Amino acid sequence: MGQITRHDFDEYIIPMFSPAPFIPVKGEGSMVWDQTGKSYIDFAGGIAVNALGHAHPAVKAALIEQADKLWHIGNGYTNEPVLALAKKLVDATFADKVFFCNSGAEANEAALKLARKYAHDAFGADKNEIVAFQNAFHGRTLFTVSAGGQPKYSKDFAPLPGGIHHVAYNDLAAAKAIISDKTCAVIVEPIQGEGGVIPADPQLLQGLRDLCDQFNAVLIFDEVQTGVGRTGSLYSYMQYGVVPDVLSTAKALGGGFPIGAILTTDKFAKALSVGSHGTTYGGNPLASAVADKVLSIINTPEVLSGVQERHQWFVDGLTAINQQYDVFSDIRGAGLLLGCQLTAAYAGQAKAITNAAAEEGVLALIAGPDVIRFAPSLIISEADVQEGLTRFARALVRVIKR
Ligand SMILES: *Cc1c(COP(=O)(O)O)cnc(C)c1O
Repeated sequence: MGQITRHDFDEYIIPMFSPAPFIPVKGEGSMVWDQTGKSYIDFAGGIAVNALGHAHPAVKAALIEQADKLWHIGNGYTNEPVLALAKKLVDATFADKVFFCNSGAEANEAALKLARKYAHDAFGADKNEIVAFQNAFHGRTLFTVSAGGQPKYSKDFAPLPGGIHHVAYNDLAAAKAIISDKTCAVIVEPIQGEGGVIPADPQLLQGLRDLCDQFNAVLIFDEVQTGVGRTGSLYSYMQYGVVPDVLSTAKALGGGFPIGAILTTDKFAKALSVGSHGTTYGGNPLASAVADKVLSIINTPEVLSGVQERHQWFVDGLTAINQQYDVFSDIRGAGLLLGCQLTAAYAGQAKAITNAAAEEGVLALIAGPDVIRFAPSLIISEADVQEGLTRFARALVRVIKR
């Protein structure tokens, strides 16, 4: 067996991703190293997943401890870690009940199926319409990609599941015009992540809450990206003060180990009766033990207030960079989900900038062609933030010079 190289990706992997030219091989805290030993400061966090950085000692210990006991048993049996995790999520949120799966798309799939089934059972088959938002991202299964508001991701897979209407984000009047007695669910991200790091106006979420109450529709918050401390509260709905009926969570929940979940109240949980939905891996002991540790570390006043403090380090640093180079028209987001909108002069350059950033030794994300996105570890050190921003500024200079 020869050396593994990036060329092997093109040789053997179905080409739906186009990964960076280097291959990361190790991570610790907010640092990542590639095959050549080059180091990177990680402002990408595995796309808002590695909320405690890489190889967090306590999370690693939880993984190893559970790996010694029981990895998987199947849903014909329950297990201790999943019950402990469910209780922790219920105690920490509006929810009475939890369903576990393995990803964000699966969580949203379950949320949408729950809403359809609840409406079928309670009101009949005519109540089946789903209201969603343009530019939203809810995952890549056929149902969730259809609920997502980026037709470029769904149109080639037609025929798509029906009954889904999209309206402009933050346009409460448009939502109001379409929500009716036939609406079974409204699905919304409190901050559109992939769509450009665009926060919902508080009036949008409160208005949707009122409309869902008025028309007996299930209000689903997709907190796959905003959840588990990312915005500075355990879930973003807590900052908005608007409580959904169903909340989907994944990404940071496992800190890098795949797990997803929906949280809901007893009223709606009843719709998913025995046999109505399922999963093989969902709620397995290994993922649950890891998520339990991640949750218990993040859901503390120190970590959550630390997210707000780190938000300010980023905003201050990015503002200073922008004063020098004038590349951003907006720096927005909440907690450690930050978006920098490029000015018209740099439209379409987000990917070129993150590529240059990697060359300078800092990993960053894009959110569409015109937005740089940062989603680092929630416990990243101040030194790593400053050094990462210095490297990022050097990358900007390179792109400006071209
Ligand atoms: C990432 C994401 C998803 C999809 O999660 P997967 O784990 O990739 O299936 C869904 N919704 C939002 C808001 C996301 O950011």
